[in-house]
Amino acid sequence: MRKFARTISGVTPVAVMTQPMKCPGQCLYCPTYADTPQSYTPESPAVLRARRCGYDARQQVRLRLKILSDMGHPTDKIELIIMGGTFLAHPEEYQYRFIQGCYDGLNGAVSATLAEAKQRNETAGHRTTGLCIETRPDWCRQAEIDRMLEFGVTRVELGVQTLDNEIYQLVRRGHQIADVVRATALLREHGFKVYYHWMPGLPGATPQTDLALTVKLFADDRFRPDGLKLYPTMVVAGTELEKWYQEDRYQPYSDETMLDLVTEIKSLVPRYVRISRVLRDIPSQFITAGCKDSMRGQVRQRLEQKALACQCIRCREYGHRTRDGWKIGEPHLVRMDYEASGGREIFLSFEDEKATLFGLLRMRIQARSVPGLVSEADGNLALIRELHVFGPEVSLHGRLVEAAQHKGLGKALLQEAERIAGNQFQMRQIAVLSGVGAKEYYRAEFGYRPQGEYMARSLETPAGHTLTAIVPPN
Ligand code: SF4
Ligand SMILES: [Zn+2]
Repeated sequence: MRKFARTISGVTPVAVMTQPMKCPGQCLYCPTYADTPQSYTPESPAVLRARRCGYDARQQVRLRLKILSDMGHPTDKIELIIMGGTFLAHPEEYQYRFIQGCYDGLNGAVSATLAEAKQRNETAGHRTTGLCIETRPDWCRQAEIDRMLEFGVTRVELGVQTLDNEIYQLVRRGHQIADVVRATALLREHGFKVYYHWMPGLPGATPQTDLALTVKLFADDRFRPDGLKLYPTMVVAGTELEKWYQEDRYQPYSDETMLDLVTEIKSLVPRYVRISRVLRDIPSQFITAGCKDSMRGQVRQRLEQKALACQCIRCREYGHRTRDGWKIGEPHLVRMDYEASGGREIFLSFEDEKATLFGLLRMRIQARSVPGLVSEADGNLALIRELHVFGPEVSLHGRLVEAAQHKGLGKALLQEAERIAGNQFQMRQIAVLSGVGAKEYYRAEFGYRPQGEYMARSLETPAGHTLTAIVPPN
């Protein structure tokens, strides 16, 4: 039976795990097992799969592609996800080899260099539309940013967990809020999407402080992540936190309390945020205390009981709502502006009257230039950080339908972004940080040209379309 949830957002995720290596962190809640990548447990499905391939990147990708296509999933648009410890702290030579191996796996051919592998992927059958890396806020400085650009990374998941320096110290996180602020700004300024890992229930926290910090996360423009992974703190066997639990120095929230808290968190996230996961992927036999079951269903029930709704991107995506039997209306263009990390974020989307999301675009206007990108004389830059149209194919009453009405939405979003950049902000150029495998789309369809690791185009010379107000398709 084909599972649709995996590909319902239009892009197929392929997770690849790095070989077990020491992480610079010493977080007391982190699973640490011999011969297992840091922060994972020996029997997680992802670890078992990776081990079968000897943690070889190319083999893991090949195996995953085969399984996915055997199951009937589309594999032409792939989001690569690098898992395991703090990848950017591994020896650099290993990092380059690993990323090259991922592209080689998708290309079905071995390349001599990373640059060659990326080049091939631009027109390969399995194209990388996104590449995601997890890292710590203190392992996300300019050197790491430059390397991630070279790797073709588009999304970074920062292990933020909380915004309290005392808790950071208590759990031996090894970094401070200032690192989160700096990493977030650097990532955004270079066009990356920024997701945070967020851990309610850490030692030193209470449900009230967790909630207050979640409010701060979106009220304070130094943070405002594009996405959130909620990882309620759990006590994993063999961790320092387990000792604390056994010595009665730490007590996780009850399931009931955590459920209420996660429900409240979900009800307050802004519409530009995607909550992509609730709960870590840890087999229950390794969990000593803390909630073991995925709470998504229960949280949804509780939201309904309280007449609240999660307005996050995931909950509003066309594909998910179609599957859940929503009646879908006609898309219209919506624009939301907000400040973040010293720049203006413009969130464009196509939504129906119930805010069902058909597609979105994130553009940033900032007064800071970026190495590798020619910016305006005054240093201003228009940078597209994301363009995503949801659900090119969806399951409808067991039938596969091509969502033809989505054709042209990506183009319309891009045109509107160009129009805003040119007309409202007098930008003469616009740039996009896209996955390696999406570059051809910008080149062939819209006349963008490579500029450093970005694709860019002048707004003074229309590429087959003019900068006038758009008419939404259909
Ligand atoms: S930084 Fe992440 S992987 Fe490293 S010890 Fe801390 S939680 Fe574990
Ligand atoms: Zn949601």
